[in-house]
Amino acid sequence: MSQTKKETIVVMSAHSDDFVIGAGGTIAAYTHEMKRVIAIVFSNGEKSHPWLRKAVVKKFREKETHQAAKVLGCRVLFLNMGDQQIYEDYKEKNLEPELLKILNRIKPAKIFTHSNEDHHSDHRAVYAITSELCDKIEFKPEVYIFPIWNPVSFKSHYPSFYVDISKTFYRKLKAVHLFRSQRFNAIYPLMTLIFQRAILSGFKIKKKFGESFYRIR
Ligand SMILES: [Zn+2]
Repeated sequence: MSQTKKETIVVMSAHSDDFVIGAGGTIAAYTHEMKRVIAIVFSNGEKSHPWLRKAVVKKFREKETHQAAKVLGCRVLFLNMGDQQIYEDYKEKNLEPELLKILNRIKPAKIFTHSNEDHHSDHRAVYAITSELCDKIEFKPEVYIFPIWNPVSFKSHYPSFYVDISKTFYRKLKAVHLFRSQRFNAIYPLMTLIFQRAILSGFKIKKKFGESFYRIR
């Protein structure tokens, strides 16, 4: 299969670790099938370490993100929006035309993004931005949402979509652990949820581990 015919998948990620936590097993499964996956990271989360200079945080978070992406086999595009002000920054810097251009060029078959039920405002901001972009792009990708800081959604009326990650769950864990700077504020608090979700979603499709999403378009 030629390079241009590869199916492309885009994962919209508010912070540098979200695409791994939300869809890491699925990303690894897709890249194993020779699909091309691009994670678009809106913010490096530079407020995670307020005592360090922004440039220092940006540098080590980009490094650990690239290492994690390498484990999953995907590529990363950093947008460098301000942490905890993604939506405002996105509007102020007028990033929409550039992102529309990129999406119209790569034409992803699927786009994964945050849930609108997530408790983190930056995550809901990326959901809103993705919805706005999908209203304006020239093609119709399938769009799915994933949870991070929201427990399993009970009110969602969208169809669920499960991916078997039995063979890639440990790669996801390896990638998650590469976010050394995020261990205390995200990785450790989320670890139980990551396991619970993988086991529950796997149970639904009679596999060892799974990841679940809701299709919103
Ligand atoms: Zn996040």
